[in-house]
Amino acid sequence: MDFSDLKLNERLAQAIQAKGYAVPSEVQAKALPLVLEEKDVIVQARTGTGKTAVFAIPLLEKLAGLKGQTQALVIVPTRELADQVQKEFVALSKGQGIFCAAVYGGQSIGVQRGLLNKGQHIVVATPGRLMDLMNRGWIRLDAIKFVVLDEADKMFDMGFRDDIEFILGRCPKQRQTMLFSATISDDILSMAEHHLRPDRIFVNVSQDKLAVDEINQFYISVDPKKRLSILAALIQDKKMTKCLVFCRTRRTADWVSKQLTQRRVPARSIHGGLEQNVRQRIIEGFRADKIPVLVTTDLLARGMDIQDISHIINFDFPKEKETYVHRIGRTARFGKTGEAITFCTNVMEIQELENIQSSFRTEIIELVETA
Ligand code: AMP
Repeated sequence: MDFSDLKLNERLAQAIQAKGYAVPSEVQAKALPLVLEEKDVIVQARTGTGKTAVFAIPLLEKLAGLKGQTQALVIVPTRELADQVQKEFVALSKGQGIFCAAVYGGQSIGVQRGLLNKGQHIVVATPGRLMDLMNRGWIRLDAIKFVVLDEADKMFDMGFRDDIEFILGRCPKQRQTMLFSATISDDILSMAEHHLRPDRIFVNVSQDKLAVDEINQFYISVDPKKRLSILAALIQDKKMTKCLVFCRTRRTADWVSKQLTQRRVPARSIHGGLEQNVRQRIIEGFRADKIPVLVTTDLLARGMDIQDISHIINFDFPKEKETYVHRIGRTARFGKTGEAITFCTNVMEIQELENIQSSFRTEIIELVETA
């Protein structure tokens, strides 16, 4: 499939080109035609696959020329993702007179009410803030024709299941629903059964195989006490310029970044405990190559859209197989190469890496400790 096969309106086609999307990604090739046909879909795809455009392009095509009442609702787990998705809509909607607002907690609800009153075709929202706006009667859902649940697994993990059920129950029944999730659990399937039409189509691009052909994966067996000096040495030796370090908790992330900085490796920690505007500034600094090392937690990293990450380091071993995939999937996007290094501090972790290798049919090579 090519973008031109989709027969999109000219302005949208131009915007896609201007955004630099020449060739559709796998999920786009598989799911875009279905979504354009207004099928309900469950799409199993992770961040970085180009999944946003799978709903953004058809929504813009369908909403062209319609008046500005809220007709599409995109529900996302985090503020970062809300901003990112809204930006994608803005970029792809250039010159088409389609308006899109992002609403989420931590910002003035009154300002957001004002935005909504101006008439937004598309609203991108986090569940909590959306519930709040609904309860106050500040958002109308009666004209909704399209609902997108983005990163549904993450929203479930964050405890938004009931909120989502409630919101879906308040949207008109005559609508197209699109569910995106990196992992598909029984809970998600049961939600799909209740809220998506019976002829819904399941699209999977992430099956068993990890889309990591371009990622060189390594592990190092480390003494926990030496983890930090090894980390600092690795970053310096490999002259890493855009490196994401994963820790399990916010506290560890703060500690690691402080210790790295003391060892003359400029690093910043970023996690959910920081104010939204502080997080945004840090992400911008990282994007603009002003901060070479970001130390983070799983919760925050999922939604961040940062291109060209050269290295991923698992300072703390990921809790689940899927987490490993999400983490390392942050590098080597769209044909670029990247490197992922996992620290193992005990035999169980090494064994778990073996499981990961066989489940995802991939290879993780041992690196010998350098410090
Ligand atoms: P997503 O998975 O939607 O977060 O997309 C990840 C990144 O890929 C974003 O920066 C998109 O702008 C970019 N992207 C999406 N589709 C394409 C494409 N067909 N070609 C190149 N880049 C793309």
